Amino acid sequence: MGSNKLLKVEGLYKSYGGHQKGRERNYAIADVNLSAASGDFLTLLGPSGCGKSTTLRCIAGLESPNLGTITVADRVLFSSDTGVSVRANDRGLGMVFQSYGIWPHMDVYKNAAFPLQVGDRKSRPSAKQVRERVERALEVVQLSQFAGRSATALSGGQQQRLALARALVMEPPLLLLDEPLSNLDAKLRTDMRFELKRLQHEIGVTTVYVTHDQSEALSMSTVIAVMSNGKVEQVGTPREVYGAPAAEFVARFVGSANLVAGKVAAVSEGEVTVKTPDGLIVASSQAGLSIGADVFVSVRPESVALSPVVDGGAHEPGEWEGVVDGSAYLGMTMEYRVKVGDTEWNVSGSSESPLADGTTVRLNFARHGCAAVPMAMSN
Ligand code: ADP
Ligand code: MG
Repeated sequence: MGSNKLLKVEGLYKSYGGHQKGRERNYAIADVNLSAASGDFLTLLGPSGCGKSTTLRCIAGLESPNLGTITVADRVLFSSDTGVSVRANDRGLGMVFQSYGIWPHMDVYKNAAFPLQVGDRKSRPSAKQVRERVERALEVVQLSQFAGRSATALSGGQQQRLALARALVMEPPLLLLDEPLSNLDAKLRTDMRFELKRLQHEIGVTTVYVTHDQSEALSMSTVIAVMSNGKVEQVGTPREVYGAPAAEFVARFVGSANLVAGKVAAVSEGEVTVKTPDGLIVASSQAGLSIGADVFVSVRPESVALSPVVDGGAHEPGEWEGVVDGSAYLGMTMEYRVKVGDTEWNVSGSSESPLADGTTVRLNFARHGCAAVPMAMSN
């Protein structure tokens, strides 16, 4: 049966503990479901230990799941139901890991050609095909002029691009990248983000990318799966997970939102009014929240407008008032700390006419930057 999804991961479980009699298994990932359409850049985002690498390694064939199904381009690579388990080498996927392990005794060209010269002799490409594919891959990662150079003479960023070329010569249907930028310094990491994005756009290869870095995920992905504790908490576009988090964990982890606790006071289509100790706030909501539900409203720092309250300005019910409690100049923007009742808010504003500490301000919220999420039961 055909499907418009290039990658499908269904009901995936993986435990490293082996089977422990009489005890519940401790799963590194439990019931992970993911999919990516052709050309997608799918990012698994979450804190260290949440199961991102385990998921990726199961797709790669480097770990054997306990349960689940993995399908790439309509080819079943793993299925606990039917007992299919294709070996990693036979999956034909491209992979780049954090430690990119280029071969120091080979030049750039030979490093990139290496994957084509191992594996089954019968299915190896001809010498001419190898040359064409290596040249194309080196061109894509902009290393053509270094083909004859020793791999150890490359900079960190160039070595990482070489690792990428080595994954691309396989012309894989799916590219798997596990924190490939985390060994690079901050400046290079930002440059490489654009490089990777350009490259993925140019060659259109479907990519699964693993990172714990929100800004990497937000800037590169077409789809983000936010993970916590071995589970996928939310799948959505960068805009959706940032602007409309579906769970408290997502709101806390992605960005630096303000979280205000309150109770749902009114519900209308796609929106709720939440009563908090400091005022009423209208927020978008995905989940079917009902009146009286305990929620957090996540409010993005850039979705709050501050205006100074002139002396004697009346405080209307439902209006939010606070006092500027600190600020930092960040060039284009100002970061403010604003004290509202007992809560400190993070607010970013224009640096054109900065507000002095101690200024009494009114807070106005942009509705699209406010999202109500159900309070997690435990934490
Ligand atoms: P992430 O990549 O998100 O940091 P991992 O997938 O590496 O997380 O790890 C998920 C969980 O599985 C963690 O609790 C980790 O300690 C555990 N784990 C990962 N690899 C192994 C392993 N080879 N043996 C035992 N436990 C592991
Ligand atoms: Mg990892």
